[in-house]
Formats: sequence, structure tokens, C-alpha cells
Amino acid sequence: LLRVRDLSTRFFTERGQVNAVESVDFDVREGEILGIVGESGSGKSVTALSLVDLVESPGRVTDGEVRYRDPGLAEEFPDAADGEMVDLRAVPERVRRALRGPDFSMIFQDPMSSFNPSLTVGEQIAEAVEVQRRASARPRSTRSRTQGYGLGSYLLDGVVPGRDYTDPESRERAVELLDQVGIPDPAERVDEYPHEFSGGMLQRAMIAQALAGEPDLLIADEPTTALDVTIQAQILELLREIQAERDMSVLLITHDLGVIARMSDRVCVMYAGEVVERGTLADIFEDSVHPYTRGLLGSIP
Ligand code: ATP
Ligand code: MG
Repeated sequence: LLRVRDLSTRFFTERGQVNAVESVDFDVREGEILGIVGESGSGKSVTALSLVDLVESPGRVTDGEVRYRDPGLAEEFPDAADGEMVDLRAVPERVRRALRGPDFSMIFQDPMSSFNPSLTVGEQIAEAVEVQRRASARPRSTRSRTQGYGLGSYLLDGVVPGRDYTDPESRERAVELLDQVGIPDPAERVDEYPHEFSGGMLQRAMIAQALAGEPDLLIADEPTTALDVTIQAQILELLREIQAERDMSVLLITHDLGVIARMSDRVCVMYAGEVVERGTLADIFEDSVHPYTRGLLGSIP
């Protein structure tokens, strides 16, 4: 579904140049959970952000090849119709935006980063539902979106937040989604504000918001790091269920090898901005060579 080759990201700061990500290669296959594990500062989040935002921003340069399989692009890119990968950097900006719109959703460690505190949870999920509905009503190649849902739906272009739902159906859908992610009494909780949710529940709500976009690929950056172990296990279980049900691909980023071991079949280990190990979990356990990986394995009880 996604092929990343030679991805490098540099920041230019007052302290000088930071090579945050260096020649990273990996694939996310259809319907799989690919785990990326690495210590703090190893470049995991920058890798994820570079995928959804290839366009250069001030102080940041991203290089490399990111290809995405998308039959919906057949009109402009006949190759895509045959299941060929489309180079996201080679396609016009307009299409590239469309691509990283509804097809990717992102969730983060801190669910507050996905929610506007002054709008109800339901309104924000309903917005994501409506954006998705509008996007899929138009031919895919003319879709235009500025942000993935996880990046804060209130930042979306053309979406005017408001207490009334544009369409009562989208509130209904928000209730449904909250129910799917295991929020109790969703029909009531839908009208609450983010701060009225517990951390674990808001994490679930963020997943609901991400699912509203009906993504083919869910990028989850430390989705359970901030949660206590019981809730962590529940959220991981939920992600697994959703992934299996929708046959979605997941890029799961964490510093916790335990989470990876539980969730993913294939793993990339990142260290100092590079992928130093890749393979199935068994490969990593048996044949890892990098000292960081050895240390990581040694830390497992
Ligand atoms: P963590 O587990 O703590 O989330 P990470 O693996 O996600 O760590 P990244 O956030 O990807 O690490 O950061 C990789 C490197 O890039 C770090 O050295 C970081 O300081 C640097 N970096 C990240 N964002 C920026 C930025 N906006 N400007 C400058 N340097 C940055
Ligand atoms: Mg990070």
C-alpha cells in the first residue's frame, strides 16, 4: 500500500542542521500492522509526519520517494489502475493533497492534539464525517483537503465549526463511531467536551475521529504511551479489532517493543534517524545485529 524509499528529513535550526531521518526505507503492505520501534529522538515521529506532509516547510527539507497504491487515481495515472504504486512526489500538488487527505489518518500520544477544546467531541467527529462524505461525493482526483483528521479537524479548510450539525445524520454517525470504539452511553457522551472525557476515553474518541475519514492507512504515533497498562491493553486490543474488521493497514510507532511484539508481524527498528533492523518479529529476536536492538531485546523481562 505504501512504499517509502530513501526518505531523509533535515531541519535547519539556530543550532545548525539536524539530520532527523536518514535514508529510511520501508513498506506497509495491504492489511498489515507494521511496527516502528526506536528510542526517544530516533526519528519515528518525523518519519510519520514526513509521510503525511511531503511538502517542504520553512526549516525542513524532506527527500526521497513515497509511493502509494491508489486505484482511485486511475484517471490521471493509468499505472495506478493496475495496482502500480504512484510516486507521491511526482504527482501534482493538487492530487498529492487529495491523496494524503481521506486515505491517511493519524492518531497521536496526546488526544488533546486532535481535538479543539471548545467544541464537543461529537461536533468534531461529525465534521470529519462530513468532510469525508463531501470528499467521496466528488471524483477522487478533485478532492482537496489541507490536513489529515488526526492533525486537528478544526484546522480543516472550509469546515466552519458550530454547535449545530450541518446534517443530523453526521451526529448519528458520530454516535455510531463512538459506540464502535467502546465509549459507553455514546448518545449522551457525544455532546460532551473533550475535557469531560478521561484520557483513555479521549484516546478512543480520537480513534473514532480517525475512522470517520475511512482511511486505508492509519498512522498511530505512540497511541498508548500516555495510558496506564490496563487502558493501554484495551486500546491496543481495539486497534487490532478495527484493523482486522476493516482490513486497514496500520503504521504503529512506539518506543515500546512490548507493544510491537503484541501487535505487529513486521518491525523496523530505528536508531539515530536510520532503520537499523527490519524483519518479522522472529527475525529480530533471532538475528538482530545492531547493539541498540540487542539492548532493547535484553530489556524485555
Ligand atoms: P520520541 O520517542 O521522543 O517521540 P521520536 O523518535 O519520535 O522520539 P522525532 O520526534 O522523530 O523522535 O525526532 C527526531 C529528531 O529530530 C530529534 O533529534 C529531534 O530533536 C529532531 N526534531 C524533530 N522535530 C524538529 C523540529 N521541528 N526542528 C528541529 N529539530 C527537530
Ligand atoms: Mg515521537
